[in-house]
Amino acid sequence: MSRALARVPDSLTGQIVTPGDRRYAQLRSTYTTTASPAGVLLPKNTAQVVAAIRYAREQRLPIAVRSGGHGLSGASSNNGGLVIDLSMLNRVQVLHERSGLFRVEAGARWANVAKALAPYGLVISSGDHGNVGVGGLATGGGVGWLVRSSGLTIDRVRAVEVVLADGTLVRADAEHEPELFWLVRGAGAGAGIVVAFEIEATEQRSVGVAQLVIEAHPDGRTVRDWAGYLAQAPRELSAAAVLFSEGRSALMSITAVVAAESLRRARPLVEPLLAIGKVLEHRTDLLPYPTLVPTAHLHPNVGQQRGTTTNGLFTELGDAAARAVTRAVTGPGRAVIQLRSLGGAVNDVAPEATAYPHRHQNTLVIASTFPPQSGAALDAAWRSAAGRADGSYVNFESRPDPAAFARIYPGETGARVRRLWRRYDPDGVFRPALLTGQPTRSGQSTRSGQPHRRRR
Ligand SMILES: Cc1cc2nc3c(=O)[nH]c(=O)nc-3n(C[C@H](O)[C@H](O)[C@H](O)COP(=O)(O)OP(=O)(O)OC[C@H]3O[C@@H](n4cnc5c(N)ncnc54)[C@H](O)[C@@H]3O)c2cc1C
Repeated sequence: MSRALARVPDSLTGQIVTPGDRRYAQLRSTYTTTASPAGVLLPKNTAQVVAAIRYAREQRLPIAVRSGGHGLSGASSNNGGLVIDLSMLNRVQVLHERSGLFRVEAGARWANVAKALAPYGLVISSGDHGNVGVGGLATGGGVGWLVRSSGLTIDRVRAVEVVLADGTLVRADAEHEPELFWLVRGAGAGAGIVVAFEIEATEQRSVGVAQLVIEAHPDGRTVRDWAGYLAQAPRELSAAAVLFSEGRSALMSITAVVAAESLRRARPLVEPLLAIGKVLEHRTDLLPYPTLVPTAHLHPNVGQQRGTTTNGLFTELGDAAARAVTRAVTGPGRAVIQLRSLGGAVNDVAPEATAYPHRHQNTLVIASTFPPQSGAALDAAWRSAAGRADGSYVNFESRPDPAAFARIYPGETGARVRRLWRRYDPDGVFRPALLTGQPTRSGQSTRSGQPHRRRR
């Protein structure tokens, strides 16, 4: 055991993995970042989470909180500190079957959540990847395959169990600790450690899934028409598209998901997408929802996906914005762009109801560069589109700093988030780099990370 981890309390022995342990190689890093923590603690229950926070504070060890390890900034590991890895807190329990209420522990992966809910004919819209953890996604937002029909993941959260920085366990919902409940839905990373969420699932067994590859016109019209159609389409339709360069032009790989139990209902909603550009491939199938976030996605995170990611929210992607987004891909920066549909149920929620205030935008645009392209290349490629964005989403930002904070939590929301982070964590034990722009207190750089390149 390393010197830094002296005097580990009895309640935690056996749950700590240190550099000499054979499991350390698989636990030290995140999806985007290789790191060297002094130890990784794997609590099996809430009492051990409490003990871990107390221990780290007594030993003055920086804490990194990890659920699935997919966070883009790499802040769910550190150098020289303690990682509290919740992967053993991964139960999914039905609380009330008729209303579809589930208790989901933060360390579960969304693939396992989908699998656990499938026998009930229920789903929780989460994200597009089964290996992403519940804790990071459900404290930031959750833009999933059914986002326009079900809303963000946080919009279906009915209660949370949080261990605060002083070791207190609090259950927060709309009536009890409403300020904490507000904070955790959008800005949870600085509030404490959420050990479990109560989430209301929606009825859905199968979904219509269309996969298309389309040539994207260099003047931006394909992107404009994609976003224009999605902004006013029936809310059963949600879609994502990856835009990537192919020689001097760009291709758009679209996955459109219809919350419908029959192809007869799904096909007409997808059809208008066939008219936005030259279609190179297309198929539409009716699939069980878990095939979108399958357990085949599960894998260890060992720093395998480096890069830089940022994003912007758009109410409208008009000619100029759509051209700027397309040029980010075809220009010298060679960014990879993802488009995600929003609107629908997301915009039914009042902007002040949660710490995710962006309730009028219709499209999320995510921009990434991967080595050998640098973060500076991303900035150059993204600058023109960034100037037209109206806010951004915390979970697709790999370089958290105060400028990103202002885009993510604008105006009154930002003031309330700051005030509440200070109230629940006065000593800054979990202080997000969004406030400081500094590397985490362990000295780990937060300047890397992003989602996977192409998904098909
Ligand atoms: C391949 C890939 C696909 C993605 N797809 C989507 C998508 O479709 N939709 C979408 O919305 N997002 C998506 N994301 C972004 C994702 O929501 C964030 O990266 C999220 O933070 C990952 O959650 P995690 O638990 O795996 O992360 P971790 O790396 O474990 O955590 C990230 C940060 O979240 C905070 N955190 C984690 N757990 C807790 C907790 N229990 N309590 C309090 N704070 C906590 C910590 O500050 C931590 O540093 C994707 C990311 C990747 C890499």
